[in-house]
Amino acid sequence: DQLQQEIVQQAKWSGTNCTDWSSDSNFTWSNQLLQISRDTFGIENFRQYQLEAMNVTLSEIDCILILPTGAGKSLCYQIPALLSQGFTLVISPLVSLMQDQIISLKLKGVEGVEMLSAETEPSHTKAVYQRMLSDNEGILKILFVTPEKIGKSKRFLSNLEKANNCNRLARIVVDEVHCTSQWGNDFRPDYKALGVLKRQFPSVPLLGLTATASEAITQDIKTILSLSTCCMIFRGSMTRVNLIYEVRQKPSSHTDTINDMVSLINDKFRNQSGIIYCCTRKESETVASDLVSKGIHAAFYHADMEMSERSSVHRHWIENKVNVIVGTIAFGMGIDKPDVRFVIHHTISKSIENYYQESGRAGRDGQLARCILYYRPLDAFKLSCMVFMEQTGQKNLYKMLQYCNNIKTCRRKLIADHFVDNIASCNCSICDTCSNSSNVISSDQNEICHFILRTIQQATDGDVNLTPLKIVKNIQKHFSNLDIFMIEKVIVTMTLRGLLKENLHFTPYSTICYLIAGMKASTSKQENFKFVVDTFENASMKRQAPKEIARSSSKKLKRQNAVVDDRDVVTID
Ligand code: ADP
Ligand code: MG
Ligand code: ZN
Repeated sequence: DQLQQEIVQQAKWSGTNCTDWSSDSNFTWSNQLLQISRDTFGIENFRQYQLEAMNVTLSEIDCILILPTGAGKSLCYQIPALLSQGFTLVISPLVSLMQDQIISLKLKGVEGVEMLSAETEPSHTKAVYQRMLSDNEGILKILFVTPEKIGKSKRFLSNLEKANNCNRLARIVVDEVHCTSQWGNDFRPDYKALGVLKRQFPSVPLLGLTATASEAITQDIKTILSLSTCCMIFRGSMTRVNLIYEVRQKPSSHTDTINDMVSLINDKFRNQSGIIYCCTRKESETVASDLVSKGIHAAFYHADMEMSERSSVHRHWIENKVNVIVGTIAFGMGIDKPDVRFVIHHTISKSIENYYQESGRAGRDGQLARCILYYRPLDAFKLSCMVFMEQTGQKNLYKMLQYCNNIKTCRRKLIADHFVDNIASCNCSICDTCSNSSNVISSDQNEICHFILRTIQQATDGDVNLTPLKIVKNIQKHFSNLDIFMIEKVIVTMTLRGLLKENLHFTPYSTICYLIAGMKASTSKQENFKFVVDTFENASMKRQAPKEIARSSSKKLKRQNAVVDDRDVVTID
């Protein structure tokens, strides 16, 4: 039987082998597809890979679609669901995500959308079960369930089988499909059970959706879900064209940082939704209460809070009773608010992947949003103490620091290059580095570099440990006119170049980071040794925030990539 199915699949595949998946006219459903997208969803133009994914899944071929947050993955099952006989089963990790989808579908007048979760009333469950088998009691087009339903409810599975036997199970959609793989950050044990689906229903096409999946994770997903060998994979550009990235110098005093944030929020984001990410629970509580004392509607959120407290904060934010969530990375998956206009990082993220995901919670609606990272180089060593347990923790952190230190390359390009995203990555013209490209000066910092190496040598000889902060203080004593940001940047740059090395010490209460000479320290004695640090000219006074977004650059944005359409572009400056 299994073999038979494979032959059928293979036949389907070879018949469509040289298909133009992007065609909007070659398929029997093409006309109707265009009509529904226009009339029901108000869509004028499809975005990258939407049409391809829909044509593949309507051709009953398995498909994995990897597109960034906000790109419009849901549409790729919503339209096919309305075009197919029977219903589309959608597996989604969170009840809140399902509810959002159901509300937005109902608003569009789509009928036959249901959901089953652990909280569903038994009587309603029964009604849904009936609709799975026939249209007599009301139609069913899209059925949302949590993965537990597949793994833990025999009754549900048996109903699914009955539905399939009368040809009513049109396709299976697995949202956030990367949760299947243990190699990713978001692994969910319940997702592993989903492998049963293709084994039980080999001829039902499966569509997996995700915003993050490396090549290796994609292969892992294929194996775990038993996807057919001819599964199509579409990987879109990671670039979020509506996000304006900026790295800001974080003042060395906490009060100055808070004041800077307060004026930023009051000037540009008054009454708008935003997130501020902090690296510890304590930091998030402090920042939240400082912002509140300055009149900002903020609340904190972290893993130490009761579940009920957390969801109440989340709800207040969704309902715009709270504007700003100040959270740790515990404020993560399932954050699906479309109109988040800013994501501020009070402290750097521990990797570029993390930064991409965290900042990516801004602008899900496709409208412009800002991602502002407050960078203080010395924060690096605070994070080092937090990531040392992770195997590639330091390597990832150093890449993040390189991102912050680089002020000569477009932010968007730096992120795209990190993900080896060849699809996009021209200059964005609106990030902080693009806006200030003529303001960069490269200064020779050989003298401090050598001073630091000498200081460290003396300390080592005298059996003394030096913290980064102690080194900063030493330099300040000897070079009175040096900007503290420059000093810190020199130290971090030296660490990234291997001239310095972090040396962690563990006490029962804390982890302390000391600096010692690195593997490359001796290269500083070579004749051609150069140590140059880039800064913005008049860094503290004149530096421009990313460009004002006027109509003209909105147009440019549109030309660059169709993800932003005209109605979506607003001026937020
Ligand atoms: P994802 O799941 O990829 O993060 P969603 O499916 O939630 O993104 O879609 C994000 C937003 O983009 C939604 O508001 C949706 O209506 C809108 N959208 C999707 N496709 C298009 C399109 N082709 N044109 C205009 N808007 C679209
Ligand atoms: Mg989605
Ligand atoms: Zn740029």
